[in-house]
Amino acid sequence: MTNATVWLPYAQMQTTLPPFEVVASHGSRLVLADGKELIDGVASWWTACHGYNHPHIINAIQKQAAIMPHVMMGGLIHPQATRLAKRLAAILPGTLDAVFFSESGSVAVEIAMKMALQFWMNQHQEQKHRFIYFEHGYHGDTFFTMSVCDPNEGMHRLFHRVLPTQHFQPLPTTDALLDNFANWLKKHAHECAALLIEPLVQGAGGMKMHHPETLHAIATLCKQHDVLVIADEIFTGFGRTGSLFAIDQANIVPDIICLSKALTGGTLPLAVTVASQHIFDGFLSDDSHKALMHGTTFMGNALGCAAANASLDLFESEPRLAQVATINAALSQAFAPLADIPGVKDVRTLGAIGVIQLERALTSTEMSWFKQQCVNEGIWCRPIQDVVYTTPSLTIDPADLSSLTAVIAKQVRAWSTLFYHA
Ligand SMILES: *Cc1c(COP(=O)(O)O)cnc(C)c1O
Repeated sequence: MTNATVWLPYAQMQTTLPPFEVVASHGSRLVLADGKELIDGVASWWTACHGYNHPHIINAIQKQAAIMPHVMMGGLIHPQATRLAKRLAAILPGTLDAVFFSESGSVAVEIAMKMALQFWMNQHQEQKHRFIYFEHGYHGDTFFTMSVCDPNEGMHRLFHRVLPTQHFQPLPTTDALLDNFANWLKKHAHECAALLIEPLVQGAGGMKMHHPETLHAIATLCKQHDVLVIADEIFTGFGRTGSLFAIDQANIVPDIICLSKALTGGTLPLAVTVASQHIFDGFLSDDSHKALMHGTTFMGNALGCAAANASLDLFESEPRLAQVATINAALSQAFAPLADIPGVKDVRTLGAIGVIQLERALTSTEMSWFKQQCVNEGIWCRPIQDVVYTTPSLTIDPADLSSLTAVIAKQVRAWSTLFYHA
């Protein structure tokens, strides 16, 4: 074949702009084929927390590649995986100590859901087989995870006929909603295996933020009613919200936590599903059928684990959380004045996340226009529907951050003038 096509994600291939070709990266910047540099406002879907090409991570990957790039985990283990598991257990709260490896966030959530189901099955509680999920939630693109993504966001609506029915709830952000949720839970908990939540920030569903008290109240109710809590920190994990993990701000310990995206500092695909001791214990038995029935070919890839260990080194040796606080101040200051512009509904920030929520979704013409204008001005920004946001690398230098926010602010103003009619 001479006319091979790279089929792009979420893109109507007939009308989408040709993708910008990136030939290199460094720091917070992408280098395009024509030599132009873009300041990256997305950090490659929130993964590149230390910026691109951090020498410490690159070096660790190169060293590991020379020793052993990969080995299967069926019956075998390797030092990078053991070390990573120990270190994750040490930085996660409570008894979140049992680390199950995979290669992508969606699969980590699939595994968490399977764990929750089988945990109850192993206790002969097969009736606990439904999952609770929230409006604006996003947990992945595979089939079981699609059943716990907000069905109205558009990404997965087409498939509702073949997806299992789960329990969809508004996020209980007010006292009244919390009362409703508590009453609802009382009636339905007996059939619920677990609740899935993105702690503090729902990412792909529109960068919606909630208070730590809300998260704490939800976790407390679940505990009272014997519903497991699965914290999906695939987006929020590793400093993005200002603490190493978002759950730290609510002082909760979920039964299971999923991590991926920034786990390897944005270098290699790796994910973990980490279970608390009591979940792990629920699989221990002399019955081999009670073992967790999952395993993927590239789970615990040694290069990925080496990269993740190197990334954890950087969280220890470099002042990431202080950098996040500085980024937050800059984002808040740069975006606050946009709140009064026609077409802007809300401006909000948390940690290294800055959001400008518009009154309506950008049309596809406006979306293409917006991205192209940003590229023309030297930045990379990719809005989601009605949300213009930036999630730069946590190491972005102040001058680049200031250019990034200035261009985003300018383009939002231009959009308001050119396209928005109240
Ligand atoms: C990105 C994301 C996922 C899916 O991860 P993939 O690696 O894209 O499969 C799941 N949950 C959340 C919260 C995410 O941000």
